[in-house]
Amino acid sequence: MHPLLETLLITPSPTGYESAGQAEWLKFVTPLADETLTDAYGSAAAMLNVSDEAITVMIEAHADEIGMVVQHVDEQGFVWVQRIGGSDPTIARARRVRIHTGSGVVSGVIGHTAIHIQDKDQNKPFAWKDLFVDIGVANREEALALVRVGDPITYADDFDLLTDDIITGRALDNRIGGYAIARVFENLAARRAELKVNVVALNAVQEEIGGFGARMMSYRFNPDCAIVTDVTHATDTPGINQREHGKVVLGEGPAIQHGTSCHPKLVAHLVAVAEARAIPHQHEASSVRTGTDTDSIFFTRQGIPSALVSLPLRYMHSPVETASLTDVDHLVALMTEAVLALDRHQRFSVL
Ligand SMILES: [Zn+2]
Repeated sequence: MHPLLETLLITPSPTGYESAGQAEWLKFVTPLADETLTDAYGSAAAMLNVSDEAITVMIEAHADEIGMVVQHVDEQGFVWVQRIGGSDPTIARARRVRIHTGSGVVSGVIGHTAIHIQDKDQNKPFAWKDLFVDIGVANREEALALVRVGDPITYADDFDLLTDDIITGRALDNRIGGYAIARVFENLAARRAELKVNVVALNAVQEEIGGFGARMMSYRFNPDCAIVTDVTHATDTPGINQREHGKVVLGEGPAIQHGTSCHPKLVAHLVAVAEARAIPHQHEASSVRTGTDTDSIFFTRQGIPSALVSLPLRYMHSPVETASLTDVDHLVALMTEAVLALDRHQRFSVL
């Protein structure tokens, strides 16, 4: 596996606490870039400045992962939590977690009453307010010597390879996207002679809570168009109704999104490039929201023509998110070729 992907996947990056992962991402792109820029909240960008006369394309992913945060420490030293982003409480019990404190990692487990002594009502669906972390201490004082309110928490799971191709782990969403745009950026730097447009690669913070990093940076850069990547639901496992959610299959290539925020001409450009280069790809539709940074970028300022090309992912927002590394390669190829095929003065008007 590529060392950057491995590094990003073992570096915790919960929303609001993305700096360590961002530093690793910058380490990779900085030697390739004409310029890099970080903003006050920790979004990071790398630029290839080809010509003042040419348009600028932004390639974008988000850097943050979902998680939890310390909400309260009780008299017995149990740590009560709230979620960061769309963490699912129904899969949280009996899991090992890491609390990221100012002085290092504190390990814990999310308490789960044994099946033998559960009350009947303990089988009901759980909410985050019902869940506590046991960090092995005897009381509040001992707990507060280790953690404090506001410390972020992630699951202890890192990643594993199920086969040479299939990777599973916590928060592939969307550290795998940060990896993908770094590889696209590397390709574009290597093929600079073919590149007709300026490039901004943006690894944005705070997507999981509302697309805020992307909003700040699109306003700053005001690019002429944007190609965003994130994960999307693979719907090829049992119990998912494809009539309701569409058909996206792991291993059949990145999914090109069709929908209101996705600009028809830029989408058509992606499809044409994928077909011309025989890059495997799939299609999916959204009505109003894509649930990605695309929703923040496309209506920035006067409107930024945007497209979304997504990595199929099973079991999203769980500690066993599962994806295909071949899909990642095809995603990188599609984004690379799509940028290289943009004209210096490409226009996107639909009228
Ligand atoms: Zn995501």
